[in-house]
Amino acid sequence: MPQYKIAIVGAGPAGYFAAMALQNLQNTELQFSIDMIERLPTPWGLVRSGVAPDHPKIKTVSKVFEKVANEENFRLFANVELGSDVTVEQLKEMYDAVVIATGTALGKKLGIPGEELAGSMSAATFVPWYNAHPDFKDESVDLSCETAVVIGAGNVAMDVARMLALEPAELDPTDTADHAITELKDSSVRTVILSARRGPEHAAFTSPELRELPKLEHTNVVMNKSDIQAAIVRAGDAPEKDVKNNLDAMLLIADKEPTTHARTMKFQFLATPIEIKGNGKVEEVVFQKTGIDETFSLKCGLVITAIGYEAASLEGIPYQKGKVVNNDGHVSENLYVVGWAKRGPSGVIGTNKSDAADVMKLLAENLGAPKNAGDVSDVIAHDKVVTQQHWQSINDAEIAAGEPLGKPRRKAVTRSELLKLGRL
Ligand SMILES: Cc1cc2nc3c(=O)[nH]c(=O)nc-3n(C[C@H](O)[C@H](O)[C@H](O)COP(=O)(O)OP(=O)(O)OC[C@H]3O[C@@H](n4cnc5c(N)ncnc54)[C@H](O)[C@@H]3O)c2cc1C
Repeated sequence: MPQYKIAIVGAGPAGYFAAMALQNLQNTELQFSIDMIERLPTPWGLVRSGVAPDHPKIKTVSKVFEKVANEENFRLFANVELGSDVTVEQLKEMYDAVVIATGTALGKKLGIPGEELAGSMSAATFVPWYNAHPDFKDESVDLSCETAVVIGAGNVAMDVARMLALEPAELDPTDTADHAITELKDSSVRTVILSARRGPEHAAFTSPELRELPKLEHTNVVMNKSDIQAAIVRAGDAPEKDVKNNLDAMLLIADKEPTTHARTMKFQFLATPIEIKGNGKVEEVVFQKTGIDETFSLKCGLVITAIGYEAASLEGIPYQKGKVVNNDGHVSENLYVVGWAKRGPSGVIGTNKSDAADVMKLLAENLGAPKNAGDVSDVIAHDKVVTQQHWQSINDAEIAAGEPLGKPRRKAVTRSELLKLGRL
């Protein structure tokens, strides 16, 4: 019976759903052995380092990933980076097929003057900072200002604004990084302005996320009713279902009586940022009213942009517009791509499931005779690899450390801490 060796690079949702699809394609005629390679000592991609800590239910998808990982034909090679520890060429030679599932880790830039000032950062830095990603622990996040501006109109922008505007004690029972909870408790930020370039009818928020905002217990959430009413008119009589659901949810927010909470999250629409000003650090953002020749500015000390992500280039893989160049997931020869690296940063976790299943079907159709040319363990130092067993030790230790604190887990942050928990 043919046994094919497949390397999946990236242990995020797309990587696991690709592995699951391969497991599901197996039959008496077709068997796979799957090696998953991940640069961090921890798997789960953005489910660990992206999804907001106050949304623990979303993270339960990790149970599905662990089920895939506990199958006999699956091996985890975490703490192994494609590019520095092993190359695409090496993998292509050793494996019958290589699946790139490395996501899109870089934040898109606004490209306006002042964006490089201290106090201006991307959600691609702020989010992994509060989520205990080892590469972002030492980022300096200055929360000493009263007003923060978040630029973007999607769920990431909303997560960022919410994290800044929540009463920080609400984060105690979450898996937010300890260092971030400490800084957020010291934060002087009391007003967070979430600013979108286009109108409410074009926002990419999803309605469940909008509907939860009025339920925040310690934060005023403010939308101008006239903004939403104008958007309803612009959207016309038969708006798409998602647009209608969003506008309904926004109207509920706009209709809510103002409260006396100390913290406010305020939505601003139809404003295009054109410059960030300040003497050595952010002091104000200048906006142009979208479509009108009129500017205004907002005083603030922190600007966080959440306007999308793009993939960092890896040698041996073609990229265009922040994504891997591909044809329905096929890149070239025995190289494939899935997830955000394939489609760009859109879609929820579940979107990656059907997408990966389609690509793995194509991969299986294209297979020739199995190779027998070694695997990643032949080219890397064994003592650095975090295997599934090591990861289980890390996972168990984090969960145990969280338990007495009422947290789902207490995340270790540095690589050395993580490796120690894995007993490496
Ligand atoms: C801030 C944020 C919040 C989100 N919240 C939600 C939510 O609440 N609900 C929801 O459904 N969706 C949410 N999403 C979307 C969801 O996270 C994505 O759909 C999903 O993570 C994309 O999966 P992926 O596997 O393509 O990429 P990723 O999750 O980014 O995984 C890529 C993996 O590849 C690894 N990697 C990268 N480069 C290398 C390399 N050179 N070598 C080895 N490994 C490498 C990375 O370390 C990472 O583990 C959110 C996204 C973001 C950015």
